[in-house]
Amino acid sequence: MYNIYDFELKKLENLLQEIFSEKPFKAKQIFQWVYKREVFDFDQMTDLSKAFREKLKENFCIKKPTIYKKQVSKDGTIKLLVELEDKNLIETVLIRYTYGNVACVSSEIGCDMKCGFCASGLLKKSRELKVSEILGQVLLLNDILKEEGNNEKITHIVVMGTGEPFLNYDNVMDFIRICNSPFALEIGARHISVSTCGIVDKIRKYADEGLQTNLAISLHAPNDEIRSKIMPINRTYNISELMDAVKYYLKKTNRRVTFEYILIKDLNDSLDCAKQLTDLIKGICAYINLIPYNEVMENKFKTSPQQNVRKFYDYLYKQNINVTVRKGFGDDIDAACGQLRAKEVKSDT
Ligand code: SF4
Repeated sequence: MYNIYDFELKKLENLLQEIFSEKPFKAKQIFQWVYKREVFDFDQMTDLSKAFREKLKENFCIKKPTIYKKQVSKDGTIKLLVELEDKNLIETVLIRYTYGNVACVSSEIGCDMKCGFCASGLLKKSRELKVSEILGQVLLLNDILKEEGNNEKITHIVVMGTGEPFLNYDNVMDFIRICNSPFALEIGARHISVSTCGIVDKIRKYADEGLQTNLAISLHAPNDEIRSKIMPINRTYNISELMDAVKYYLKKTNRRVTFEYILIKDLNDSLDCAKQLTDLIKGICAYINLIPYNEVMENKFKTSPQQNVRKFYDYLYKQNINVTVRKGFGDDIDAACGQLRAKEVKSDT
């Protein structure tokens, strides 16, 4: 049985053509019923012929994952533990900014990248997520927003939850196409960001997609010595190779790149690191997002003291670098990425 949510429009058109010899516009009709009118019963899709509806019922379902647990923070941040059909659990987060509602979605179950500061990486990867499972996270958050009755929806997406999105490349790209499609969620490409720890060949591939979506790089260190300590991927693709791929992306897309930089006490938060970081991104159309580290019990890293964050920020700012310090959200719930799932899976075992 195929799940409609697993298909971006072009792929659904091809499949309908292939298995039923149906015209491509039928896929658009189905998309509009499902995503625009939120009709999930093929029998109610009245502009499709009865015979076609019967064939759809025999071969397709329209199935979302379910909510296993929901945590709501005082600041309105919502963290969901989502249960998949095979009973695996994944995390997704809704963050409310003044400019819109941001869904931070997971792309894999667990992660093998082993970034030292990350709670998500504490659980080994068991598999990649299907398109419907990535999309399902946004749909569930939209359901919650709908229940709140304020006529709001998810307006921005960051593929920044558990998993390395570029190791589930094709499914993440199809997910983006559905989110961006005028026949589906219609979320502007510029409101969608993918964050990678630095899978260099996929950064180049992403650059070639011709999308107007954003790229964020989890950098977290200004040199190979520190980066290799906290991000094993740096031993495969070092900073110089990473920056070459970023420059290729900039040349192809003309878009700005975001560098994520988690500030960890006594590791990467010195003024010297700020200077090295400035030299590294000099001349690159970039934006630096400084993130005070969110301590998790499972590892040894400590949050950078506020005065270090301030000095680091001031130094970059004075060098005319576009820089912000990310505000913490959901600090009263299991805020660090992967924390909620890590707790749940551990308590189950
Ligand atoms: S930071 Fe991202 S890539 Fe690194 S271990 Fe965590 S989830 Fe995986």
